[in-house]
Amino acid sequence: MDQQTGDAGVITVEQHRERVLAAVRPLESATMPVDAALGRVLRAPVRSAVDLPLFDNSAMDGFAVLFADVAGASAESPVVLDVVADLPAGTSRNPVLAPGQAARIMTGAPFPSAADTVVPFEDTAGGLADSLRRVTVVAAPRAQGAHIRPRAEECRAGDEILPAGTRLGGRQLAAAAAAGVTEVTVSRMPRVAVISTGDELQPPGAPLRHGQIPESNSALLAGLCGENGAEVVLRTWVGDDGDGLRAALADATALGADVVITSGGVSAGAYEVVKNAAPMRFDKVAMQPGKPQGFGDGTPLMFGLPGNPVSVAVSFEVFVRPALLAMQGAMVLDRLILPMRVHEAWRTPAGRRQYRPVVIERDGVRPASSGGSHLAASLGRADAYAIVPVEVDSVAVGDIVDVMLVS
Ligand code: AMP
Ligand code: MG
Repeated sequence: MDQQTGDAGVITVEQHRERVLAAVRPLESATMPVDAALGRVLRAPVRSAVDLPLFDNSAMDGFAVLFADVAGASAESPVVLDVVADLPAGTSRNPVLAPGQAARIMTGAPFPSAADTVVPFEDTAGGLADSLRRVTVVAAPRAQGAHIRPRAEECRAGDEILPAGTRLGGRQLAAAAAAGVTEVTVSRMPRVAVISTGDELQPPGAPLRHGQIPESNSALLAGLCGENGAEVVLRTWVGDDGDGLRAALADATALGADVVITSGGVSAGAYEVVKNAAPMRFDKVAMQPGKPQGFGDGTPLMFGLPGNPVSVAVSFEVFVRPALLAMQGAMVLDRLILPMRVHEAWRTPAGRRQYRPVVIERDGVRPASSGGSHLAASLGRADAYAIVPVEVDSVAVGDIVDVMLVS
C-alpha cells in the first residue's frame, strides 16, 4: 500500500517525477549570437561588457545647468540663463558652461561635465518654444544632480547580469544587447520525437467516417515542446496494430532524438500498442487526469503519456516539461503556483491529486470545462491548472486552491 494514496501499486506524482529527473542528463552547450538565442537556456552567466549606463546622461528633456545658478528659482523670482549649446541624444559634444549659462539637452544625451543638474522643460517659463537662446527657470531643482542618470548606476563592466540557467526571452535578450554582449553560451535544444497512437485518428482536415476523430495530441505536444525550448525532429502517427510503433521508434533514434513522447495506448484497454511494444515501465500515478504513465530511462528518454488530450497536457506539465528544462540546464523547473479563490464548485476524485484546467478571472478561477479529460476544445480556454490535494474530494465556491500558471 502506498502511504499517501492508500492504493496498492500506485505511486505519487513526486515519486514519478523524481524517477524522471534522475534519468535526465544535461545536453551539450554552444556559443551563438544573441539574436539567434531566443528560447535557449544560458549555460554560462552573461556579464556586462560595459558600464550601464555607459555615461552620465539626462533623464529628462530640458536644460543642463549649474545648481548654484538656479537653487533660488521660483515663480516669483525666476532665473534667466543663456542657452549656449544644444545636446540631442547621440551627440558627443561636451560644451563648456560658465555661471549663468545652460545647454539645452534631450533625454539620453551625454551630460556635460561642466554642469551638475537638469532643469526639465516643465520647470521653465517658455517650455520647448524659443528654448535655444534664453531659458527662464521658474522652479528650483530638488537637489544638485537632479534628473541625471549616473554612469554605472545599474552595473559595471564585468558584472553578472543574467545567471546560468536563465531562459532567454525578449527581456533577457534585450538586457544582453543593452550590455554590449553579442554572444551567449546556451544549451543545445532537446530533440523530441512526438508519436501519436490510435486506429481512430485521422490527420486534421481529413474526411472522417463515423468513429474517427482528428489527431490533435501531436499538435499539443509539438506546441508545448516548442514553447519550452525543444525542437521537434519527428511528428508522426501510428496505428494500434502492426509494426508502426517499432518503426517510428527506430526513426526517432535515427534522427538523434533525445526524447520520445508517445500518447495513447498505455491504459487498461484491449489495444494498448505502447504498453505492449515500447521499452518503458508502466506505472499508475495518483493523479487525475494522467493516471497511467509509461517511462523509459534509456536513450532516448521515453514518455508514454495517456491518450486523452487533457491527460496529455497535464502529464506534459508535470513530468515532461521539467525534464526538457533540466536537460537544458534551466535554473527553474517548476511553473509559478499561486493560491487563488474558486468561483465555481467541482468534485475531485479521492486518492488522486487533481490537476483541473481553469480559466483565470479577475480575482479567482473557474473550471475551463464541465470536467472530463476528453474535452479537448475547452483546453484551449484554460490559463492554468488548479491543483487539488489527494485527500480533498470536493472544491467549494470561496475555497482557496493552488493554481499552476501555464500561460
Ligand atoms: P487511449 O489511451 O489510446 O485509449 O486513448 C484515450 C482517448 O484519447 C481515446 O478516446 C482516444 O481516441 C483519444 N486520443 C488518443 N490519442 C489521441 C490523439 N493523438 N489525438 C486526439 N485524441 C486522442
Ligand atoms: Mg488508443
